[in-house]
Amino acid sequence: MYDIIIVGAGPAGLTAALYARRAGHSVLVLEGGVPGGQAVTTPHVENWPGTLSISGPDFAMGLYQQCTDLGAEIQFAAVTGFQDQGSVKVVLAGEEQFQGRALILANGVQRRKLGVPGEERLGGKGVSYCATCDGSFFKGKDVAVVGGGNTAVEDAIYLASICPTVWLIHRRDKLTAQKYLVDGLKDKPNVKLLMEHKVMEIQGEKQVESIRLMGPDHQRILHVSAVFAAVGLIPDNAKFSPPLALNEYGYLQAGEDCVTNIPGVFAAGDTRSKELRQLVTAAADGAMAASKAGQYLGGL
Ligand SMILES: Cc1cc2nc3c(=O)[nH]c(=O)nc-3n(C[C@H](O)[C@H](O)[C@H](O)COP(=O)(O)OP(=O)(O)OC[C@H]3O[C@@H](n4cnc5c(N)ncnc54)[C@H](O)[C@@H]3O)c2cc1C
Repeated sequence: MYDIIIVGAGPAGLTAALYARRAGHSVLVLEGGVPGGQAVTTPHVENWPGTLSISGPDFAMGLYQQCTDLGAEIQFAAVTGFQDQGSVKVVLAGEEQFQGRALILANGVQRRKLGVPGEERLGGKGVSYCATCDGSFFKGKDVAVVGGGNTAVEDAIYLASICPTVWLIHRRDKLTAQKYLVDGLKDKPNVKLLMEHKVMEIQGEKQVESIRLMGPDHQRILHVSAVFAAVGLIPDNAKFSPPLALNEYGYLQAGEDCVTNIPGVFAAGDTRSKELRQLVTAAADGAMAASKAGQYLGGL
């Protein structure tokens, strides 16, 4: 039996592990993918106080190392739900079960899909949700990025350094990314903007060969070797609810104290209902959740 089980080894989960270990609790972190969470997919970490330049993977590796050095146990398992048995929280991962006295959910968010024909079939064959991870496979080839927010623009700028033409396709008439990122596109003449265009289909036999778009008044076929979808993030919390309360968008309902409606269960990071989803707020949640879990354990 662990004092605290943490679901997710992103910045929120690993910071929670750090604080919980320093407070002397036994900690198990369960991670269904790779440690580091979303940060792993960014070439440059921004807005992390005191660090001028660091890549996402280096940032993630530092956090991971810090936690394991402090004695946090990390196991790779995708959590499928939990049972609240009062003073024991049984965490389920398929056939496996883990028991903890407190539970911190720091499972982040998932990438939103385009939901068009060809997307599933050509997944991993030119359809990608991570330009930083997969971009180098398409070096020297024309590619498309779908979306208009920070991630889409950041992806387009990165891909423009290795691909001859990068089509940036957005369904609205204006990009919603932060101004400094949009300004960065001015230095990338090979990023071609296609506003008010929607992806209707991804085409190709064995690999992505083209995409069919619908513009304001006509359809268009673009010949590209890859499509990078950057159309937003969605929470994945249905497996925890009930008993946990979710807000109207599916995020775990908890305030700044990370306390949920179930005693002994805490929500930290992007998975929690909150206004700003960033590394610094995820880490802050991790610290808060670990502290609240410690208080809860002290009162058991
Ligand atoms: C491309 C990109 C660039 C970004 N750049 C910046 C930046 O420069 N500065 C900044 O402040 N923020 C940035 N962000 C946002 C920042 O990365 C997130 O706010 C932060 O990672 C949230 O941390 P988290 O720990 O809450 O969640 P996540 O980072 O999403 O981590 C959650 C972890 O939980 C795991 N998990 C999920 N479900 C399960 C399950 N069922 N079982 C086990 N494990 C599970 C996931 O695999 C993941 O490792 C960026 C995000 C993206 C996508």
